[in-house]
Amino acid sequence: MTRARVLVLNSALGPLDYRVPRGMEVEPGSIVVAPLGPRQLVGVVWEPERMPSDAEVGDNRLRNLIAVYDLPPLRDPLRRLIEWTANYYLAPPAAVVRMALPSSSALEGAKMITEYRLTAFRPERLTPQRAQALDRIGERQGLIRELALIADVSDSVIRGLVKAGAIEPVEVSTDTPYDTPDPDHAPPDLSAIQTAAADALVDAVTARAFEPFLLDGVTGSGKTEVYFEAIAEVVRQGRQALVLLPEIALTEPFLKRFAARFGHAPVAWHSDLRQSQRRRAWRAIASGEAKVVVGARSALFLPYADLGLIVVDEAHETSFKQEEGVHYHARDVAVMRGHFESCPVVLASATPAIETRQQVEIGRYRELKLAARFGAATMPEIEPIDLIQDPPERGRWLAPKLVASVTETLERGEQALLFLNRRGYAPLTLCRTCGHRFQCPNCTAWMVEHRLVRRLACHHCGHVMQPPANCPECQDEDSLVACGPGVERIADEVKALFPDARTAIVTSDTMWSPAKAAEFVGRMEAGEIDIVVGTQLVTKGYHFPNLTLVGVVDADLGLEGGDLRAAERTFQQIMQVAGRAGRGEKPGHVFIQTHNPSAPVMEALVSGDAVSFYEAETEARRHAGAPPFGRYAGIIISAEDQKLALETANLIGRTAPRVEGMHVYGPAPAPLAMLRGRHRFRLLVHARRALDVQDVIRDWLGKLEWSAKVRVAVDVDPYSF
Ligand code: ADP
Ligand code: ZN
Repeated sequence: MTRARVLVLNSALGPLDYRVPRGMEVEPGSIVVAPLGPRQLVGVVWEPERMPSDAEVGDNRLRNLIAVYDLPPLRDPLRRLIEWTANYYLAPPAAVVRMALPSSSALEGAKMITEYRLTAFRPERLTPQRAQALDRIGERQGLIRELALIADVSDSVIRGLVKAGAIEPVEVSTDTPYDTPDPDHAPPDLSAIQTAAADALVDAVTARAFEPFLLDGVTGSGKTEVYFEAIAEVVRQGRQALVLLPEIALTEPFLKRFAARFGHAPVAWHSDLRQSQRRRAWRAIASGEAKVVVGARSALFLPYADLGLIVVDEAHETSFKQEEGVHYHARDVAVMRGHFESCPVVLASATPAIETRQQVEIGRYRELKLAARFGAATMPEIEPIDLIQDPPERGRWLAPKLVASVTETLERGEQALLFLNRRGYAPLTLCRTCGHRFQCPNCTAWMVEHRLVRRLACHHCGHVMQPPANCPECQDEDSLVACGPGVERIADEVKALFPDARTAIVTSDTMWSPAKAAEFVGRMEAGEIDIVVGTQLVTKGYHFPNLTLVGVVDADLGLEGGDLRAAERTFQQIMQVAGRAGRGEKPGHVFIQTHNPSAPVMEALVSGDAVSFYEAETEARRHAGAPPFGRYAGIIISAEDQKLALETANLIGRTAPRVEGMHVYGPAPAPLAMLRGRHRFRLLVHARRALDVQDVIRDWLGKLEWSAKVRVAVDVDPYSF
């Protein structure tokens, strides 16, 4: 090949052609360095016939490729996946390719990297910044830049500490081989039902063909143990397995559990990796040396050498839907990757999405069912607390019945979990005198009070401010009041009610790294925590046998807003959190505090009749032509200038093509009408299932032009509509 078509990363341009200089060898998938203007960028070579270019350049005007990396080319199945993702989600192919590659520094990076870590030496007098750095770095190590980020200080503070001798350099090899998991290290004795499910998966792995499974079992039924058997088979064959988890906080406990079963931990991939770890992991994945990889959704696009199995654990989780950059759903892309790689895909869930159930219904996915909890553990009983009949005391949030149950739980020496999916102390602060509300200047959102760190924060853009003493509007003193509870406020109530109990708050504010999660798990297991107050971060995956009581502080929270998925999401979330109770030999009990005990979703939770609930929800979807029976796509138009955004939205709305079976709603203000200082409008496209709505949208938007200040993003299969 003397001419090569290249998808250049970090460029808004489509594929570009280059000359391959004499002596350089490239093939489709090769990772290269290409010139673009004055810059040198990483790119990937593609078959020209599969990647049309709109800028055909004559041979004599081509620029030379600069270099080709000594790395395995991206394999055909991955390139097909990248094409599919770009097509389906209407994303630039280069943006999708970027997800397959680490940063260029991690591509090039030397085999030895100098990292830094704390020494035993503490200078006598420390500035607050230095003290903060030493405190936050703790056991962690990394590049100067990485430590500065962890510590939230500037690079120079870290450098100063190096000079002072409190931080020292260490040479880290990024080539150290990984230990291969041992499939026969500590296999469990599976029950008959578990064995049947595991056998089906092992057979599928052996068949080396695409087959999607729904592994459907209540929490604690042994889904993990079952798919571990399939992983064991993959490892025996010397191939690779990928496990996707919805939350990086779950990685650490997973690594431990995996190591107990297989003797060695798998390779982790998530956003919290250091550059040295990233380089090491990426190369081992591409060479095939990394046999088992566990990661967040970003692990889905890595260049596995020989993928034999994909598992999506807690497959119903909404965090698999990426809402920025390339808008994609990792659960659905995982199935496509299995298709291109010709390997089985296992979606594991206790509360599968309606879309997934429907795939089983129409015979596309095979269902494997684990109906009961493993061993002596039974499903917890779920009891409603009617907040109208049995309200908490004034100014409190926990009803007397729940308080009494926590008391009994503590008396038995067991642990309790109070769940409220709201970070901070209070979701809204207002002035009692003039009604002023603290709103984010950049977003359509209230500023959330975080009392522990004495700040008001926007959860959408990160804007923070100090809570003022007086109302900024009417200057009244002592007139500001916190409205509604967040976990910090519940924790205050708990401390007042149970002064002797040891309480922990678990949210992304307190558990922001895998190491923090590991610390929490350790303290729970050692019995050093009596009451956990947490957000959805504690609802997934954890296994604490001594945790027997779960209280859902506000079961109605997810029903607000009333979008089509609200009831389903509430059902999933409460089943998940309920699933934390009574996982050992002691039975669990769950209370759900609600104003609507007769809402169908509350009745379904209490009766445990998931089947009827799902049937009713599915019927409602069918009736509305909503997914999976019809399709939606959102077109989000945003700009700093509201008028410009609206004009563009109107232009796009006006030019909507008339297509049989398709309807366009809007433009209307998007669910977050302002986000990070940009005004947002949304058009919602609703189409029947069979319509190629991507094609229609590509054609439609392709004919239009708008100001460079306007951003237009398409969200295919949006989560909320
Ligand atoms: P799930 O993934 O369905 O929530 P897990 O796989 O986490 O369930 O199993 C719940 C608990 O039961 C775990 O502690 C697990 O180790 C244990 N368990 C499940 N099956 C077995 C088995 N066959 N032998 C021993 N322990 C098991
Ligand atoms: Zn904001």
